[in-house]
Amino acid sequence: MDKPEFKLEFPADPGNNLDDGGMPRPDELIIVNDEILNANCCRYDCFNLKAIVDSMEHGGEFEIPICICGFGCRLGVEAPYAVTHGGGCVYWDIAFSKYWKGSRHFCFDKAQYLDAIRNLFQEVKRILECRPLCNEDEKYEYAADDQIINIGPCLTYREFEEIYNRMESIYNKLRKPLFNKECNNGQA
Ligand SMILES: [Zn+2]
Repeated sequence: MDKPEFKLEFPADPGNNLDDGGMPRPDELIIVNDEILNANCCRYDCFNLKAIVDSMEHGGEFEIPICICGFGCRLGVEAPYAVTHGGGCVYWDIAFSKYWKGSRHFCFDKAQYLDAIRNLFQEVKRILECRPLCNEDEKYEYAADDQIINIGPCLTYREFEEIYNRMESIYNKLRKPLFNKECNNGQA
C-alpha cells in the first residue's frame, strides 16, 4: 500500500514565489512514499483542489497537479492521473511523464486517502485564517470573499469555501463506514 500526502511548505527563501501582495506562497507538494510527484522545471505545480476532492468520491481522469495559471499546462508533459476506486482502495495510474521514465501505478488505502485530503484542506484553512488580506486587493476594494487565496491556481476565498464544504460532505459520507470496518477488523 502506498502512502499519500498533500503537503504545504513555506520555503525559507520564497524567491519569485510571492503573490501580488508580497506574501510568500507555500510550495504545494504531492508526495507518495516520500517521493515528490509534482516538481516541474522551476518549482512545483499547484494542487488542483477541486479535482482532488472529486477524486475522493469517484474515478476519472484528473489533473491532480495543475499549472499555477489554472490551465492544464502540464498536459503533454504528463498524462492526467487516471483515478479508480475499488476494494477499499483508491488507485492512481499515470501513463507517462517527462519527469520520470515509464508509467506509475499507486494504490492507496481509501481511508488514508480521504484522511490525507481532509488534512490538506484543514491546513489550507488554518493558513488562510492567520493570513492578512492582500494589500493590493484592498486597494481595489474587492470583497474579502473575492480575493485570491494564493494556494492552488487563482481560487477566491468564496470558491475555496465551496470546495471545502464539498470535501467535508464527501468525507463525512465515505469515511465513517470505513472507520467502522477498521474497528471490526481490529476486533476480529
Ligand atoms: Zn500555465
